[in-house]
Formats: sequence, C-alpha cells, structure tokens
Amino acid sequence: MLTLMIHRNENYCITTTLVFFSFDAKILRIINKNLVILDKTGFYPRGGGQEPDFGYIGAHKVDDVTKIKDKVLHHVIGTFEQKEGDVVNCVVEKDRRLSITKNHTATHIINHASKSVLGSWVWQNSAYKDETYARLDITHHSALSRVEMQEIERKANDIIRSNLPVLINFYPRGVAEQNYSFRIYQGGVVPSNDVRIVNIGGLDIEACGGTHVFNTGELGLIKIIKTERIQDGVVRIEFVAGANALNRVQDQDDQIQYIVNKLGTNREKVLETFSKNMDDLDKSKKKIKSLLRSISIATVEQTIKDSIVLKSESNANRFLNCYFKIDEEFDDQFHLLVGQNSVERNPDLVYISIVIVESKSAKVIVFCGKNALKIMKANVLANHISKMLGGSGGGTPNFGQGGGTILENRQDLEEMLKKSLLEKLNDLNE
Ligand SMILES: [Zn+2]
Repeated sequence: MLTLMIHRNENYCITTTLVFFSFDAKILRIINKNLVILDKTGFYPRGGGQEPDFGYIGAHKVDDVTKIKDKVLHHVIGTFEQKEGDVVNCVVEKDRRLSITKNHTATHIINHASKSVLGSWVWQNSAYKDETYARLDITHHSALSRVEMQEIERKANDIIRSNLPVLINFYPRGVAEQNYSFRIYQGGVVPSNDVRIVNIGGLDIEACGGTHVFNTGELGLIKIIKTERIQDGVVRIEFVAGANALNRVQDQDDQIQYIVNKLGTNREKVLETFSKNMDDLDKSKKKIKSLLRSISIATVEQTIKDSIVLKSESNANRFLNCYFKIDEEFDDQFHLLVGQNSVERNPDLVYISIVIVESKSAKVIVFCGKNALKIMKANVLANHISKMLGGSGGGTPNFGQGGGTILENRQDLEEMLKKSLLEKLNDLNE
C-alpha cells in the first residue's frame, strides 16, 4: 500500500502543470472518515521543514498532509464521502505550492550565502518553509550585524540573478558522500541508500526531499525580514522570496511613506526632518519637566489645604491628614514631585493619587509623611488600592506605587479608603 509520490523525481514543473497539480488517483484507504490514502499523490507531505500542500480530493478540501513510513495521509475537512476503490480527481493548490517551493530553494541559497559571508563553520541547524515566509537557523557564534545581514542578502540575490540551474538527481549513498562530502547532510543524515541530491549551480549541494524551482532566476528576489540569535551558537534568519519578497519591500515602502506624510516632508529629507523632530521632542520634554517642577512646588500649599483630617474616635490626638486625587490630566511624574514635596512639608500627610492612563489603566502613587507612616505604611496602602483596581503594588513605608486596569468603581475608592483609614486609626491601641 505504498503511496507513489509523483513530485519526488522532479522539480515542480510549470510546463507539465496538469500532471503535478491535477491528477487522478485511486482511494486505497479511509481512516476515521477524514484521513485518505491514495495509490499515488502529487501532494507534498510535511517533511524536511517544508509545510504540506493544500488542495482538494474530489470535492473535499485537504488541509494537512503527513507521511508515515511509506504512506501519505491526506487530512480532509469534514467527513470523507467517497469509498475505497473509487478513482478521484485531485487538485493541489498551485499558488501555495509555488510560494513554498520558492521559499525552499531560497533556504538553500541563504544557507550557502551565510556560509560564504560568515565562515565555513556555518551549518544548517534547522529550517522551516511555509507559504508566506521561511526561516533558517544556522550555527554561528554571535548575532549578525546589519552589514553581515545585508551582505548575505546581496550574495543570495546575486545567485538569483545568475540564473543558476537547480538539478535534482538520485545517487547511491556512498557515491553522493564521495562526490560532495558530508556537507550534503545540512538537513540531517538521510536514512535511505538512495540519496536525492539538490544541486544549485554547483554552489549549494544538499541531500533534500523538498520541492524546488528549476532555475534560481524564478525566485526574482529574496528579502531577509529579520535575524535573531535564538540560543548559544544559533542564529535565526527569516526571509521571503518571489512575489512575497516584493510585497514585503512595498509594505516597508508604504511605512516610510506614512512617516513622510506624517512629518509633512519629502522622501529626500525624511531622515533630516525625523532627527530634527526627535531633537525638538527631547527639548519639549525637558521644558515640560521643568514647568511641572515649578507647578508642583506651587501646588504643594494647595494640596495641604485640600487634604482632610481623619481623627480616631477613641483618641483625639491620633489623626491623619489625607489627600486623595484621581487625575486624568497630569502624569505620574507630576504626582511624584507634588507627593514627595507635600509630605516633606506636612509629616502628618498621606498623599494618594490615582493617575488614569489613556482611560485604560491606573497608576497608584502613595506617599506617607514621617508621622503618618507610624499609622499607615505607603507600600501597604498602595497594594490595597491597586488590588481594588485589579492589580498589585508595593514599595517602602514612605513611598508606595502600583496600578490596575479595573477602573469602573474608581469613584467609590475615596469613600472606601477614608473608611479603611478611619478603621485603622480606631483599631490602633496605645
Ligand atoms: Zn532542502
């Protein structure tokens, strides 16, 4: 019940499209009403880091294809209605296959380009090729610099423009190893005695079971999206090829155009205008900071005036001054300045501010003057308030902060806090 894989012996083939992308096959077995085994298939099953083909078996959509030993299992959506022994027409989604194929050949090219730019120690650690992008993890000691990344990209595109043939041939294992060395096993050692060798213009020669273009020129363009050091000695390179690469370049171009429009400048002056805007922003931030400092000093007196006195019912000498503010206008920097200066001016003061950020979340700031903190600790109070807002807080007895995102009952907070501060005052024994 071996499934003959009809893509294995060839590159994908534009001229014989009908043979590969549409074919008739006999249903050998149906498992669990949604896994179909055919006598032959043009569907590429997931393997070697290459994602599977999608398409149709009869009217049934194929959304996954896997290979177990010699059998290719086609997973269909819903219940498979046809019977074992039926002959069905099968269609492989061509655009998906072509995108994956280009990304696969691009992976071999990037592997070769990385080795020539970085050094002979570069080896494929793992690879993944999907419809929209591909990634290659290589062995390399450090993260790639921008210059190295661009050099690899340049080298890969040189190979594309050289229109190199991509040849696929089978060799006995010993012959393949003797002719091409163990470098053919970039994707791991192949278990069979018959080794499928993919040879890209004599530059990159690998044992590989995946689908490939005939000629590197078919890729059109390779664009590296990003590089990242993912673990000790392994660097990940993500990239796209073909129409996906052009789309990516155009998307990035759109982003630059958006910035150009927002800055009200033109393409030639975008960097200059951007730098100037950043400098202006820095200056404005400094001005605001100094303005806030002046305002906060002036605000201290008013804060102390606006604070209320909470007295213990059992001991008239035990009291706290409490200032409470929910602020949607000034930021936490302002309240840090006002709070600190206010408790220094009035050591009996408990300063509580809840700063609302973009109507979505709240920052909690609590200061306790040196007399007040004998009764109530700022960190405890900050955590208590933050919990009411669905978050948590901490800090020191003198200064606490926290935050939360549940803002619905914020108007009731003042009353609830007054109540709990009063309870605390009454509970104290002397
Ligand atoms: Zn491969």
